[in-house]
Amino acid sequence: MTDRDECRMPTCSEPARDRTGYSGRFCSDSCEVRYEHLQADARDAAVDEAEDRY
Ligand SMILES: [Zn+2]
Repeated sequence: MTDRDECRMPTCSEPARDRTGYSGRFCSDSCEVRYEHLQADARDAAVDEAEDRY
C-alpha cells in the first residue's frame, strides 16, 4: 500500500484519482494526455538518435 498516489505528471502534484478509464494514475484526462505526449516525444528523440531515418 502506498501512502499517497500523486499524479504521474512531473509538473503536477495533485493527488491522482482512481477513476474508471484512467489506465495510469493521473488527476485528470489532460494530465494523462500530456504525459503520453512526453513519452511519445522521448521515444521519437531516442529513435531519431538511434536510427537517423527521417
Ligand atoms: Zn495531474
